[in-house]
Amino acid sequence: MSLKARAVEKIERSGISNYAFDDDQLILCGVRYALNPCACGAPDCDGVALQRVSQVSSPTLQ
Ligand SMILES: [Zn+2]
Repeated sequence: MSLKARAVEKIERSGISNYAFDDDQLILCGVRYALNPCACGAPDCDGVALQRVSQVSSPTLQ
């Protein structure tokens, strides 16, 4: 199963339906998350870790 599919499962299990994907990044409430494989080994782990992506779109004044 792809990371994206795992992330979708994880999100929908949380009852969240308002999300979107941009390439391989998840956008949730206007916040971007990178999808990383999780290797914690917990028995209930869904295998995906969402890492918040800091917005680097600082406006440039020219
Ligand atoms: Zn894990």
